[in-house]
Amino acid sequence: MARPALIVHGGAGPVPETERAERQAAVERAIDIGWTNIADGALAAAVAAVRHMEDEPLLNAGIGACLNGDGVVELDAGVMLGAERRAGGAACLRDVRHPIDLAVAIMRDGRHVLLAADGASRFAREHGVEMCDPAIFITDRKRQELMRGADTVGAVARDADGRLAVAVSTGGINGKLPGRIGDSPIPGAGFYADDRHGAVCGTGLGEAFIRLGLARVMVVEMEHGMDARAVADGAVAYLDRAMRASGGVIVLGREGSPAAAFNTAAMPFAVRE
Ligand code: ASP
Repeated sequence: MARPALIVHGGAGPVPETERAERQAAVERAIDIGWTNIADGALAAAVAAVRHMEDEPLLNAGIGACLNGDGVVELDAGVMLGAERRAGGAACLRDVRHPIDLAVAIMRDGRHVLLAADGASRFAREHGVEMCDPAIFITDRKRQELMRGADTVGAVARDADGRLAVAVSTGGINGKLPGRIGDSPIPGAGFYADDRHGAVCGTGLGEAFIRLGLARVMVVEMEHGMDARAVADGAVAYLDRAMRASGGVIVLGREGSPAAAFNTAAMPFAVRE
């Protein structure tokens, strides 16, 4: 028997101070929903939390996400199960209602790890994933245009059987080039899970996470005996030192408490164990 735990974050992006309390409240709602699913397993808990955050307009995922350079919302999501290191990523989505659902469907299908753009939408339709009018992602065009930098939502869970899972979803970086894909749908970059060692996910400049392979590095550090706290602190220090990049991470080992760290002004997060 393992001790269940869940950690959820709402992004380390630069947001106005006036929104901080509301964003924290959105993350608290998400962890409540995730935690009520923990008896169904780590994957159910992590996905439920992220799926909820895709509907929180103040968080940069799903509804209310930032806009690309053409003024369009393009979404990325990823999921990973630590048991067999199965993973699914979905990128550059314009018409998938819940990107995290598509990432799960890709993982379950198992033929590929990452699908993008039109092919990803076709796969979603063929597998019964809910589609939508791209217009529904835009709730307040002015605010979404003015969002600065980047942001992401994510959750990492451990269930009573010691299984680990991670789920991530994002609108990416405001004003990004159309077609740009960040770290959030890429295992080893924006997220990683391995039941033998731990599970992690990140938020921040995706290009830096990809170039460093940061999520995989973090899990290797746990394999070598570092605990979640040391790995989280080390990752944000490394992000800054190696890439001059800002961001945050959440980390959960195969045992022990979850940890969060960020080198930005704020990152709303919540923990249950
Ligand atoms: N990592 C995300 C991306 O680059 C954005 C973020 O988390 O801030 O797409």
